[in-house]
Amino acid sequence: MYFFYRSFLDKICPRSCISCPAELLGSEDQLCSTCSDRLLASIIAKRETIPSCDSAEAWMDFDALQAYMHRIKFDSHPELAFYLGKAYALHTPCPLVDALVPVPISAQRRRKRGYNQCEWICRGLSSVWGLPIWKDALIKSHRAAQAQQNKAQRAMHMMDAFAPGRPFPKGSSLQLWDDTWTTGATLNAAGWALRAGGAGQIHARTLASE
Ligand SMILES: [Zn+2]
Repeated sequence: MYFFYRSFLDKICPRSCISCPAELLGSEDQLCSTCSDRLLASIIAKRETIPSCDSAEAWMDFDALQAYMHRIKFDSHPELAFYLGKAYALHTPCPLVDALVPVPISAQRRRKRGYNQCEWICRGLSSVWGLPIWKDALIKSHRAAQAQQNKAQRAMHMMDAFAPGRPFPKGSSLQLWDDTWTTGATLNAAGWALRAGGAGQIHARTLASE
């Protein structure tokens, strides 16, 4: 029934691939199958080290996701973050964790963007894995944009950028999500705040590695 409805809608209002001019066919979502195959061929699963976390991994090189990340962050496309989260979950076994925790963004940035893209990544993951999302487990204070800072400045700046939010069961095992790995300072700071909140295992994941 859904596909009948979808193909009917596609006839009166064709959808295009967000990455190329191709029209989307019935079951395709966001990306045409050519672009989707190309994207999935970019999976690298790069392992990193983050002091506050038990494991840390990035899914793809930033180059493969750059155009998508731009649309997600600056072009009001949260559904694309959902799509990428779902794609990740479809290609990765469900982790043995109690919940997914999105890295929070400041209230000011949230007002400007209208949503937290990391929450939308987690919603995509959860649509496949069925894991709960603890979106208030961490809170963040507003900080200036990081773009102009070097690695040491960012690390200093990030130290107290997060704090434990809504209490969760002590010893909880968590998968912590950010969209992009830049220096690891954000994930490290978020990890320490989750530890302060009583987390047991923390596994950091990102879609892209810059
Ligand atoms: Zn395409």
